[in-house]
Amino acid sequence: MVRKIQAQGVSHAGVLAALQAVERHRFVDTALVNQAYEDTSLPIGLGQTISKPGVVARMIELLCAEHTGKLGRVLEIGTGCGYQAAVLAHVAREVYSIERLRGLHEKARENLRAFRISNLHLLFGDGMLGYAKGAPYAAIIAAAGGNDIPQAWIDQLAVGGRLVAPAVTSAGKQNLVVVDKTATGVVRTELEAVFFVPLKSGIA
Ligand code: SAH
Repeated sequence: MVRKIQAQGVSHAGVLAALQAVERHRFVDTALVNQAYEDTSLPIGLGQTISKPGVVARMIELLCAEHTGKLGRVLEIGTGCGYQAAVLAHVAREVYSIERLRGLHEKARENLRAFRISNLHLLFGDGMLGYAKGAPYAAIIAAAGGNDIPQAWIDQLAVGGRLVAPAVTSAGKQNLVVVDKTATGVVRTELEAVFFVPLKSGIA
């Protein structure tokens, strides 16, 4: 899986090492274990999916871009089964990951128990509001796409920080969007088309 992702153009050593370290088969149901190392999204229950590992790698590489060392505090919106959160915990000093579906929040907790990752904090709540208590974040990453990037995320991003999220662009399609917060303002860049589950408000 990691070799395939490398062939797709991901080259950041820290990101590749993190993907190598986190066993993806531990995050999917027994019936799907034989597909765990394919570059594909898979169902994790409640209509949600574990993200495609190639896209997880691409997005985390975008976050790590100019950092040679570890990222500082990172906020992930959409814990799902906890896979991306575990990968993030390898490249960041502190990770806050928030999920709006209680069933998945609990599933992630269960999946991650054996890993004993001390720098990962799982939160249950509406990630559209971000998580102000952990702000400011060096990086914010969303695993679900809305019509726009919530203002709360931009507010909670540190100056010099970067946000990567899927969002609907002016062309009406879902694309990866990068937001860099600089001392003089916010710079938004739209990248390739992606397919993420919808970002929804409230908890359930
Ligand atoms: N990072 C996960 C991807 C899970 S899919 C992984 O590694 O597998 C995206 C998740 O985002 C879903 O579980 C969905 O319930 C969640 N989500 C959608 N809107 C949300 C919101 N407003 N706050 C928190 N989580 C949200």
